Amino acid sequence: MLSSVQNPRVLLLHCRRSKPFHHHHHHHHSKSIHAASLAHPISASIPTSQIQTIQKSILSREKTTRQFAEEFLNRLRLTEPHVKSFLHVSETVLNEADEIDRKIDRNEDIGPLAGVLVAVKDNICTADMPSTAGSKLLENYRPPYDATAVKKLKESGAIIVGKTNLDEFGMGSTTEGSAYHVTANPWNLEYVPGGSSGGSAAAVSARQCVVSLGSDTGGSVRQPASFCGVVGLKPTYGRVSRYGLVAYASSLDVIGCIGTSVADAGILLQSICGHDNLDATSSKREVSDFTSQFISKDYFESQPLKGLRVGVISETLGDGVDQEVVSSIRGAISHLEELGCTVTEVSLPSFSLGLPAYFVLASSESSSNLSRYDGIRYGNQTVSDELSAVYGGSRANGFGPEVKRRILMGTYALSAGYYDAYYKRAQQVRTVVQKSFKAALDVHDILISPAAPSAAYKIGEKKNDPLAMYAGDIMTVNVNMAGLPALVLPCGFVKDGSASLPVGFQMIGSAFDEEKLLKVGHIFEQTLQDMVVAMYHPPWNPGLLFLTSMADPLVTVVFAIVKAA
Ligand code: GLN
Repeated sequence: MLSSVQNPRVLLLHCRRSKPFHHHHHHHHSKSIHAASLAHPISASIPTSQIQTIQKSILSREKTTRQFAEEFLNRLRLTEPHVKSFLHVSETVLNEADEIDRKIDRNEDIGPLAGVLVAVKDNICTADMPSTAGSKLLENYRPPYDATAVKKLKESGAIIVGKTNLDEFGMGSTTEGSAYHVTANPWNLEYVPGGSSGGSAAAVSARQCVVSLGSDTGGSVRQPASFCGVVGLKPTYGRVSRYGLVAYASSLDVIGCIGTSVADAGILLQSICGHDNLDATSSKREVSDFTSQFISKDYFESQPLKGLRVGVISETLGDGVDQEVVSSIRGAISHLEELGCTVTEVSLPSFSLGLPAYFVLASSESSSNLSRYDGIRYGNQTVSDELSAVYGGSRANGFGPEVKRRILMGTYALSAGYYDAYYKRAQQVRTVVQKSFKAALDVHDILISPAAPSAAYKIGEKKNDPLAMYAGDIMTVNVNMAGLPALVLPCGFVKDGSASLPVGFQMIGSAFDEEKLLKVGHIFEQTLQDMVVAMYHPPWNPGLLFLTSMADPLVTVVFAIVKAA
């Protein structure tokens, strides 16, 4: 049996672990999978930009766009029955790839994302595909337009591979709140991928696509990125147009980027950001060129981050945070120190107030935003002779339990007698949170915290305990309330029984300073040592075995799924 083969040589250094992880010799999957031989044992290497590799290969005609597309589609076909990242898969991927190849033949310009398969969270509107937001209410909804981010992707040459699963309307932290199906964590199929952009994170983690779009209202890009061992970027509020993003809480919502390297997340952001006349809250600020800083390690100085002031948010490493998560973050911190950063602790006393304030504000805004779903204008309708019964019936049948809970909470918080006590108070907390981040970022270049208090947990574990699930958002919600950009990247593993699951850390920057976050993240990632990089590897779990040769930067993931005898 193969299980002894893939001992991931992992981040001993940064976890300060005394022994390497032991690959489990026993597993309890219903479908045990063994591979016959190991042609490509894991050889760890630094993650490279898949986007840049594709661009180079297709332009030099080393490989065709179609070949790349077929690789991803084959992997998607094999892994999707297990992972279930998608709600809809496009049927035109290969035709679009051929079209790009023809353009190259004719020496026409191709965009910076030409041939890149991008998965899009299903709360982001696409004219040629369904957009359900994970809700039964929008089951058959096909928007007549593309979201601005999608339009920009297409203009850059990207191929939209499909629409990914999510917690209904983005409300949740596990993707179990989808009205359609549960998505699994590619690292271990018994675990949640996180949420609400769980489908987008799992799709990238399982290499079903190159990069993906998610949305982040309170952590929905960053937490699933952390759970799935990929890079997640939440841009500054207003950096990316929200036009065509199904509104959850409009003052917090932002479209974000997921990739297997910092460069890919940054290149993706570059192509979707900027001012948009269709979104009055989108910023008119100039967008800098993020991509120029994704240079090769050879050009780094000996201490490339010398003088960078890093503040570790002390409240995020205390009680209630998994000890293995804390030691992974400490590992990341010592790596930053090796790179020349000056790391100090910084206290944000208002940190714990963020969570309750977030849930009041997010629920309040959602109760208002979701009032548009009345069975008349969008989606499914429950037929009745009486108008109020059409509204009521459509909403009663269309919304799931978590969405109803949020609407009730929000309506309550906004109601006449309670507005001052809840909504107004939460807005005051928001101001306090904004100020405390501002003060901390006046004296630090970036702030550091875990992306979540734990690694992924089992499917079903918190499904019936909404408060426990809400509590898991503690690391991320403050950042949305302050509107700041944040980048999550893998920094270790934790063990849960026989499972090893990835852990991510979060770097928070000043508003509109994505450039700095991406620079630091890129250098951090490119200077990881061999023992650390295995964490960037595609999932190797026994339920879904990927055999990887990282020698090929495009992650030539050769994988075998062989049913147990
Ligand atoms: N888990 C958080 C919530 O349920 C955040 C969701 C999100 O960012 N969309 O509100």
